[in-house]
Amino acid sequence: MLREIDRQEAAEVKKDEWRVGYQGEPGAYGEVAAAAHGGIPAGFASFEKLLDALRDGLVDEAVLPIENAVVGAITEALEPLADYVAAGLELVAVSLTSVPVRLGLAARPGTPLSEVKRAWSHPAALRQCTHRLAQMGIERVVCYDTAGAAQIVAHDASTDAAICSRRAAERYGLEVLVEDVSDKEQNGTRFAHLRMAEHARAQVPLAFLRTSSMTATGRLDVLTGATLLPLAGNAEFPVRMWVLGADAARLQALAPVRDVQVISLGQPAAHAARNVPPKQGTEPVIKSLPHATARRPLTIVEVGPLRVGAGSRAVIAGPCSVESPEQVMRIAKEVAACGATALRGGIFKPRTNPYAFQGHGLEALDWLVAAGKETGLPIVTEVMAVDQVAPVALKADVLQIGARNMQNFDLLRAVGRAGRPVLLKRGAGATVDEWLGAAEYIMASGELRVILCERGIRTFETSTRNTLDVGGMLAARPLTHLPILADPSHAAGRADLVEGLARAAWAAGADGLIVEVHDDPARALSDGEQALVPQRFAELARALALNPDARLPLPQLRAWVDAIDADLAHLVQRRLEVAKVIGASKRQTGRAVLDPRREAAVRRTYHEALQGERELADKLVDLLIEAARHQQSIED
Ligand code: PEP
Ligand code: MN
Repeated sequence: MLREIDRQEAAEVKKDEWRVGYQGEPGAYGEVAAAAHGGIPAGFASFEKLLDALRDGLVDEAVLPIENAVVGAITEALEPLADYVAAGLELVAVSLTSVPVRLGLAARPGTPLSEVKRAWSHPAALRQCTHRLAQMGIERVVCYDTAGAAQIVAHDASTDAAICSRRAAERYGLEVLVEDVSDKEQNGTRFAHLRMAEHARAQVPLAFLRTSSMTATGRLDVLTGATLLPLAGNAEFPVRMWVLGADAARLQALAPVRDVQVISLGQPAAHAARNVPPKQGTEPVIKSLPHATARRPLTIVEVGPLRVGAGSRAVIAGPCSVESPEQVMRIAKEVAACGATALRGGIFKPRTNPYAFQGHGLEALDWLVAAGKETGLPIVTEVMAVDQVAPVALKADVLQIGARNMQNFDLLRAVGRAGRPVLLKRGAGATVDEWLGAAEYIMASGELRVILCERGIRTFETSTRNTLDVGGMLAARPLTHLPILADPSHAAGRADLVEGLARAAWAAGADGLIVEVHDDPARALSDGEQALVPQRFAELARALALNPDARLPLPQLRAWVDAIDADLAHLVQRRLEVAKVIGASKRQTGRAVLDPRREAAVRRTYHEALQGERELADKLVDLLIEAARHQQSIED
C-alpha cells in the first residue's frame, strides 16, 4: 500500500542533501518537479528504471507524473507504479507538486515552420497536442521524454521538431517556433513524490487502486463497496483512494463512511475522451473557436419538455417529411405516448433528385405546429435557405440545419440571428473541426443554444447509407460544451439497423437521439426505408427507459412492463452472483461476510431510489439479504 506522510515530515528530511529521481533527460518537466523541494535531480530512462533505483537506494525519492490537466491520468507512469506496488514495493507518497506545462514546438535554428512535418515527444505530451498538431498537419513521433525529443532533434539533420519546454529547447540549442501547442491553455502536470516506506514515518494511509487492472489483486483490491469497508479511516486522517479508470463519484457514494475520500485520477488514456467536458473557465479549448469550445459548464438547451445536455437526454422523433395534417398528428401522438421529448418533421426537404418530393413548404409548418400543440411537444424543422429562416422561426421551436447545409455560412449566420435554438447536423464529409467551426458561426451571430447532431458520414461502405461516427462524437465531447445528439436513421438508411445504432450512441453517452418514425413507411414521401413504425419506436423507447403515457395501446404497455420485469429478474440474478464473489473474497481474507454497516449502505441506496416507498425498499433489501444468506449458507 502507498502511504502518505505530511509535508512537515517531508520538510524534516530536507536538512541534508538528497537525490530525487525522475524519468527523462535534463530539461524534462520531471526535473522541475524533482528540484521543487530542493533535492538534487537525477534522470532515468524509464519509470521502471526509476522505481528500481528507488528500491535499490540509488535515489532517496522519486517523482512520478500522475495527472495532467489536458489528458488526465498519466498511465505511462501509473501502470508501472501500480505493478511495483502490487509486487510488494512498500512506497509512501510524501507530497505532490504541480508543474505548469507549456509545450513548445522547437526545431533546429533556421527551420521554417512550414517545413516541419514530424514532431517527437513523450506519448503523454503528444496526447496533449493532438488537436493542434493535426490542424498543423504535423505527424507525431513517440519517444521516451520531452527533453529526450529535443536531444534527438538537435542531433538529427532534419526538419523534425520536438514538443518540449522552452527550458529543454534552449538546453539543446533548438529554436522555439510555436510557444504553446497544447490543446488547452493553462496546462499542468501533478507529480507525486515517493519514498520507500522504511525511510518515512507513515501517518495517513493512502490506497492506490486500479479498478480495471488484472494485477490489482492481493495487495490492490478490485474495488467494490465491500473492499472500501476495512479501509475506513477517521475524521482526522481520512483514507484516501486514488482511483484510476473508475467513476469516482459513484465510488464515493459506495463508501459507507464519510472518512473515505475518493480522488479520481480520471480515465486511463484510452478512454480519456469519455464524457469529459472542457474544464470550467473562459478560455477556449481550440483557440480559434472561442464560443463553441469555451471552457464552461456543459450547455443545457431547454424548450418545454425538450431538455438536452449535461446529463439530460432528448429523444426527438417524427416523420422525415410532414405529409399531411393527419399524418403528422397521428405520428406525433404515437411518439409522445412513448416518451419522446420533441417532434420532428421536414417541410423543406433537401433531396438528391430534383424531381423527388421537395416538401409541402410553409403550409406544412402549420400542420406541424398543430401536432406539437396537441401533444405538448416542441417542434424541430429544417430550414434550407436564408429567406425561410424568418417565417419558420416565427412558429418552430428549434431550427434544424441539415447535413448538406452545414457549411452554408450565410444560412448559419441567419439562423444565428433568428432567436431560436439550432440543431446543427454534421455534414456527411465534414471533420469534427469543421462541424465545430459551423457551430461557431451560429454562436458568433448571437445564438448560443446550439445542439450538435452526428448523422453518419460518407465512407467506402455501401451496406449502410452512411456510417454513424460514434468515434467522432466521442472526439467532439471533450472539445465542446454543446450537447451532442445522434441520428441513427440517416446514418443507417435502413430501419432494421436503427435500434442497434441508437443503443450504441446512447451507450457512448450521446445527449440524445433524433429518430424518424412513420406509420406507413411503404407510402412515405421520403426516407420510408429508414423509418421505424410506431411499435418499433416504442420498443426502442422502452430500451432507453423513456417514460410511456397512457395513450399507448394496452398490449404495448403490457409489453413495456414485461420487458422491465425481465430486466429486474436478470439484475437480481446478477446481484446474487456478484454477492457470492464478494462473500468468497471476504472468506479468503478472513473477514466477516455480513457487515451491518454495509447492509445499512445498501438500504440507503434503496431508500433513495424508491423515495416515498420506504416499506417496499426495506422489504426488497430484506429479501435480497435473505437470498444471499441462503445461497451462501450463512448462519446467523
Ligand atoms: C432530415 O433530418 O430529414 C435530414 C434531411 O437530415 P440530414 O440533413 O442529416 O440528411
Ligand atoms: Mn429524412
